[in-house]
Amino acid sequence: MRLPHHPEAVEALRTPTPEDPWRILISGCLQGWPCGVNGTDYGLGAGRPSWLDDPRVRRIPFCPEDHGLGTPRTMPDLHDGDGYAVLDGTARVLDENRVDLTEGMLKGARAMLELARAEDVDFAVLTDRSGACGSQVISVGCRFEEPVDHRRGVGVAAALLLRNGFKVTSQRDFRTLALLGAKLDRRFAPGPEVVDHHEHPWVLEHLPLPASATP
Ligand code: SF4
Repeated sequence: MRLPHHPEAVEALRTPTPEDPWRILISGCLQGWPCGVNGTDYGLGAGRPSWLDDPRVRRIPFCPEDHGLGTPRTMPDLHDGDGYAVLDGTARVLDENRVDLTEGMLKGARAMLELARAEDVDFAVLTDRSGACGSQVISVGCRFEEPVDHRRGVGVAAALLLRNGFKVTSQRDFRTLALLGAKLDRRFAPGPEVVDHHEHPWVLEHLPLPASATP
């Protein structure tokens, strides 16, 4: 379940304590690991919400691409479909040289699922727009070639977590992150101007939903 589309599921989450903290699976780069394709954390570690440092939170970091492909690496991009399509064998992951990285991406996704199960995580906070961790917006095709084909959708590791019943949100879902933080401290409660990634003006303008679609 994607938490930004189910705020009632945020409300229903258990109340964590220092003795029994939330166990949160978090993308390695959000943790500050230098696991990005270029061997950096893309600057994401410094920008994560401060409530993730609360003693009632235990962060469980993992990078599926580093696990399956190593770091640094070429750019693993989805081709012909989203993460679900890769799991179903109807899409592939190729790099900018058209080398097939699908098996490495699947290996990383499976290891991430194993960790989520072993730690019985409450939910995951993953980096959006990644071909592995994306949970709201992805790109299909080589992202170094214009025009980039952005789509609403999920990456390979996120798809596997979602398909196995885990709750997921992204670092760009500011309203959901604030609602989560507010369960620890009401001062984090979002104002009306705070939106999730799928509600962002750029997404609404460039990636409109078909009238019949359910988010
Ligand atoms: S695969 Fe996920 S954790 Fe690893 S660098 Fe990409 S977004 Fe971050």
